[in-house]
Amino acid sequence: MTTALPPGSTIGILGGGQLGRMLSLAAAPLGLKCHIYSDVPGPAFDVAAASTVGAYEDTAKIRAFAESVDVVTYEFENVPLEAAAAAEAMTPVRPGPKALAVAQDRLEEKTFIRGIGIPVAPFAPVDSDASLEAAIHAIGETGILKTCRLGYDGKGQVRIKSASELKPAFESLKRAPCVLEGLVPFAYEVSVLVVRSISGEVRFYDLPLNTHKNGILDTSTVPSPISETHAARAKEMAAAIATALGYVGVLGVEMFYLGPDAAEPLVVNEIAPRVHNSGHWTMDACLVSQFENHIRAVAGWPLGPTGRHSDVTMTNLIGEDVDAWQALAAEPGAALHLYGKPEARPGRKMGHVNRVKPRS
Ligand code: AMP
Repeated sequence: MTTALPPGSTIGILGGGQLGRMLSLAAAPLGLKCHIYSDVPGPAFDVAAASTVGAYEDTAKIRAFAESVDVVTYEFENVPLEAAAAAEAMTPVRPGPKALAVAQDRLEEKTFIRGIGIPVAPFAPVDSDASLEAAIHAIGETGILKTCRLGYDGKGQVRIKSASELKPAFESLKRAPCVLEGLVPFAYEVSVLVVRSISGEVRFYDLPLNTHKNGILDTSTVPSPISETHAARAKEMAAAIATALGYVGVLGVEMFYLGPDAAEPLVVNEIAPRVHNSGHWTMDACLVSQFENHIRAVAGWPLGPTGRHSDVTMTNLIGEDVDAWQALAAEPGAALHLYGKPEARPGRKMGHVNRVKPRS
């Protein structure tokens, strides 16, 4: 039995965005404090007990930060591995650096997931003109070319409709190492939010159905129409990934659902080694949100209930969507969450709204 960090302990969070903000807010009712470390001040700084601005490459500063807290976690997957290793030399880092390493690189991620027997979209590496040819042979002429690293919200991706488009696409991605992925004929997209404790207990939230606009998550709706059997299969897949990574905390697993008659109904798209946007609905439709459960897990506390007391649709407020804040604040049944970002740039996640109804 691992000793739980007592109330009054401090959780260090690498990253200062809205996820760090909502983690900090969720830690407070448990009597736990959060200390944010980020290269730029962000939404988390407004609500955390302490914050430090520093480069992720400044390993001496990271070590000092890690030494000042009781456990370190992170709220974005592109934390440099050196930063996580520097922190780990002083203090436990949960989830461990292995999850970071796998999630930071699409090729590693897909190879790892396929390696534990879980279906992913067909893929082939592209890092040279020769591998372009080989990728077309392996995958076919239509697909999506994705950079291995630093892609998010549809960035770093180009759709390919014929073989002749592949080389210009590779050039447009500055010949960065990529994977060519075959198109998955999905019916809809779901995700699994799994939380795993230090002792290996896993709990799951209900699967949301996710829709996207311009490559960015638009809505997550629970319940989704997926059958009990397939939801159970999706959870089993997510648990296998979490367990193989020795994961502690909340893991988001994005999946394509191909429909009840598909030979392989569920295919993993990608994993996020952190709390996930498609789990923001848990803040208002569950007794214990994904944020609180992540805090509980990394602090060695008993996991909280993941059951859902309400039906809900979460809608992201992107860019100027946030200008409707007064109407949203007045809307019955709607819980508004704003991230306190100063400028509503296009494509920027400014907040979200959870529209809650009694459970059907
Ligand atoms: P990603 O950044 O990999 O999550 O991709 C963004 C979105 O593009 C996904 O949510 C899907 O809607 C779509 N997409 C990505 N990969 C594929 C694929 N292999 N087949 C079909 N659609 C995809």
